[in-house]
Amino acid sequence: MRRGAFSVSVTKDHLVFSSAHFITFAGHRCEGLHGHNYRARVTIEGQLDEEVGFVFDFVEIKHLMKGLCDEIDHKVLLPLDNPKLQVVECGDDVKVAHEGKPRYVFPRRDCALLPIANTTVELLAELLAGRFRAALDARGAHGLTAIEMEVEENFGQSAVYRVALK
Ligand SMILES: [Zn+2]
Repeated sequence: MRRGAFSVSVTKDHLVFSSAHFITFAGHRCEGLHGHNYRARVTIEGQLDEEVGFVFDFVEIKHLMKGLCDEIDHKVLLPLDNPKLQVVECGDDVKVAHEGKPRYVFPRRDCALLPIANTTVELLAELLAGRFRAALDARGAHGLTAIEMEVEENFGQSAVYRVALK
């Protein structure tokens, strides 16, 4: 029986999504629209697959993560669960109001409508971790004990979300 624990980690130059966003702050303040070259890093903890000697296949991890990044690459990231923002699909457009005042209209195809309260790196990391977990489950992954997702919005400026798996 092994006493230590293993994890594998992937971050690559192509695990990037270049997206626009803005966040709301406490009170009535709301950022202006701007963009980041976000970068994701994922770490998976788990038992060693004794037959192969790895936790999980790097190729699979990179493929899954690339898919998640591509989904939101070159999009305006809009939170659907922000009580201060009204994000409404209207034909081919998405209309965004802040506290009832019209603020932006974007083409629907250029938007990623996300089930989060604010597009902070913390909540983006949590969202990506959930989507990554769902993708792992769909592939019947087993023996994994935790996922850690880091989203960087600038050099040296990132948030990490970690979730233990049953
Ligand atoms: Zn920003």
